Amino acid sequence: MNTMTESKKTVTLNYINGEWVASDSEQTAVSKNPAKIGEDVGYYQISSSNDFDQAAISARKAQKAWGKLAGSVRGDYLLKAAAILEERIEDVATAMTQEMGKTFAEAKGETARGVAILRYYAGEGMRAIGDVIPSSDSDALMFTTRVPLGVVGVITPWNFPVAIPLWKMAPALIYGNAVVVKPASDTAITCSKVINCLHDAGIPAGVVNMVTGSGAKIGMEMVNHPEIDAITFTGSNTVGKQLAHAAVDRGIKYQLEMGGKNPVIVANDADLDLAADATISGGLKSTGQKCTATSRVIVHKDVYEEFKEKLLTKMKTITVGDGFETGTWMGPCASEGQLETVLSYIEKGKQEGAKLLYGGNQVLKDQGYYVEPTVFENATPSMTIAREEIFGPVLVLLKVETMEEALEMANDSEYGLSASIFTTNIGNMLSFINEMDAGLVRINAESAGVELQAPFGGMKQSSSHSREQGRAAIEFFTSIKTVFVK
Ligand code: NAP
Repeated sequence: MNTMTESKKTVTLNYINGEWVASDSEQTAVSKNPAKIGEDVGYYQISSSNDFDQAAISARKAQKAWGKLAGSVRGDYLLKAAAILEERIEDVATAMTQEMGKTFAEAKGETARGVAILRYYAGEGMRAIGDVIPSSDSDALMFTTRVPLGVVGVITPWNFPVAIPLWKMAPALIYGNAVVVKPASDTAITCSKVINCLHDAGIPAGVVNMVTGSGAKIGMEMVNHPEIDAITFTGSNTVGKQLAHAAVDRGIKYQLEMGGKNPVIVANDADLDLAADATISGGLKSTGQKCTATSRVIVHKDVYEEFKEKLLTKMKTITVGDGFETGTWMGPCASEGQLETVLSYIEKGKQEGAKLLYGGNQVLKDQGYYVEPTVFENATPSMTIAREEIFGPVLVLLKVETMEEALEMANDSEYGLSASIFTTNIGNMLSFINEMDAGLVRINAESAGVELQAPFGGMKQSSSHSREQGRAAIEFFTSIKTVFVK
């Protein structure tokens, strides 16, 4: 059982050395439903340093035997976990919608993706992990092989509480590492259900561990702990930079996936219906709380008015509400703090002189942390709303005279995660592919999302420049050994 009942409270436990255990801190915190003010989803533990210590030590002990198993055997555990997660999609998705407000359809989609991630990496266990390199000595054999890093610390955000932990854990495990996971507090219950699938798949004790609690405490202890050999983190730039400093001090490997301020360019030859649909889907699905969400919409002056009208017409059809209700297109912000952040950016946009075209208000006030889908125009690239990641359903329209100006504006950001262009002109497409500084460059497709078998990550301040997902994950989760045999 991944929970215990204490004074009528259902408390999610830590997972250490193959067992669900209570923290010695005896402190808990509540997880709240952002769609229903006052509804508690459950409790998770505020773990102690000792809890984390136990988890890291158990991972260290288990990793040696796990790392020696054949990749296909490790893959069998992932396949079993995938089958179990598939059976539990509704249950896991229910927890996700309750904890962070994503619509139930999106939550089920994300959980199904988690199943596919486990299956994909099970297959990776059977792939070649090195190269034979011709030696200048014809009597010698020279080749590379890849070895696990050891114990990997995994720190994840609340916006994809199933997919992100899995796209970090699954490659870590298949390449022979043990893991200690610190999930986002707002979605600790959802993450524990994923870990429970690995437990029920019979993964050996200690190979996977989960410790909940304060990121500022457990997260920092993780990066500084002597039994942790590497850190993979997804979250904000502020926290990512702190972790990077600590990781450099210890000389351990680190991987950071952070924010974005993702542009979409609409050229004067674009299919405007497609562009408007993709801007809405890419910018506002999941209430704009995706690192790849469209945020800056850069539109050529020739089609600006027509595009704006199409966008507004479509935006007005968006239904906001509880993610469980049929007909809801956009759920609430994931927490009260998130709602306040979004509202304060909207205020800032107005103060700095941008024109609020649509939305901008809190809605269904007494029910949950809801905000209207929002769009600004007459913004300039230097305004806060055009520079900082809002992480909410707010679009900023920027008008340009030429395609050169559009590309320059799209690149005028400290971030470089995802970028899209809508155009039918091959020259525009090629310039964008060649000159856009972003890890994901998408043509006639929304900025959000990438298939799980393709590399994922950003340029500039969006990432530490390694890539997650697909075959690319092997680069972070292993070390190369060059072998010379004579
Ligand atoms: P966050 O505040 O940085 O939190 C992320 C994780 O770090 C949570 O588990 C958090 O724990 C933990 N944490 C907090 N303070 C810490 C510290 N001082 N040391 C170590 N760990 C600490 O980010 P968030 O608000 O959850 O997520 C939103 C951000 O994630 C956005 O910027 C978004 O763009 C980014 N994101 C990026 C990607 C990508 O792939 N590029 C994907 C999704 C999200 P607690 O929850 O306990 O505070």
